[in-house]
Amino acid sequence: MRIDVVSIFPEYLAPLRLSLLGRAQEDGILELEVHDLREFTFDRHRTVDDTPYGGGAGMVMKPEPWALALEAVFTAHSERRGSDRQTERTTLGERPVLIVPSPAGEVFTQALAHELANEPTLAFACGRYEGIDERVLDWARERFEVRPVSLGDYVLNGGEVAVMAMVEAIARLIPGVVGNPESLVEESHSDGLLEYPVYTKPSSWRGLDVPEVLLSGNHGRIAKWRREQQLRRTAARRPELLDGADASQFSGGEREV
Ligand code: SAM
Repeated sequence: MRIDVVSIFPEYLAPLRLSLLGRAQEDGILELEVHDLREFTFDRHRTVDDTPYGGGAGMVMKPEPWALALEAVFTAHSERRGSDRQTERTTLGERPVLIVPSPAGEVFTQALAHELANEPTLAFACGRYEGIDERVLDWARERFEVRPVSLGDYVLNGGEVAVMAMVEAIARLIPGVVGNPESLVEESHSDGLLEYPVYTKPSSWRGLDVPEVLLSGNHGRIAKWRREQQLRRTAARRPELLDGADASQFSGGEREV
C-alpha cells in the first residue's frame, strides 16, 4: 500500500516511521510519503491560510496550495494504481481515496479501517486552523473518492494526530505488518465486542490471582470464559455495541455487570 499525507507539519508524522510500521516500510509492504503543504506556495511567507469569508474567528486554509499538493499526490497514485492494474492487484474503486480528517466527518471505526486496508493507495489531507476551504473537497471529488473522517466527537488542533491513529489502525491490517496474524482475530472490535481481560506471569502478584480457569489447560473452558468476559465487559463499558453483536451469543444476566 502507498500512503501520502499532506500537512504543514510533516515532522508531526515522524512516529509513523517507528516500530511495526517502520519495519513494514523497510520490508516494502508499506510506502509512506509525507508532503509539506508549504512546498506548494509561491509567496515569500509561504502562506497557507487567510481570513474567513463571512467573518468569524480564526483562519481558513487557502485552496490553491491544496490543489497543487493533491494534484501531485493524485499523479503518484494514478501511476501506482496503473501498475497495480497491470498486475491485477487493483480490485476496488477506480478513484484513489482521499481521507480528510474532520470533527464533522463520519466516525472512524475498525470496519472502516478494514475497508481502507484493502485500498492500494490512500491520501490524507491534514487540516489546521478552522479547516480547509470547502471548495477543495468539491474540486478533489473529480479525482478522488473524498471521505471526511472524524476520530471522535471532540476537536483537535489539526489533522496530524487523527492521521497517525488512522494510518496505524489501517496499516496493521495489511498482511505481513503484524507478525502473528492470529493476534488480529480476537481483538476488540474484530467481532463487534470488546476483548476479554488478559494476564501474564506471575500467576499471583501483590495478592491478586490470575483467574483459575486460565491455568487449567482446558481450552474449551478457557474459550467459554473468554467469550463470557467479552460479553460482560462490552455490556458494562459499551452496551450500545451489543445491539450490533449476535444476540444469540448473549445469555441472560450479563447485562447487569
Ligand atoms: N472548525 C472545525 C470544526 O468545528 O469542525 C475544527 C477545526 S480543527 C481546530 C482543525 C483541524 O483539526 C481540522 O480541519 C481537522 O483536520 C482536525 N481535527 C480536529 N478534530 C478532529 C477530529 N475529531 N477528527 C479528525 N480530525 C480532526
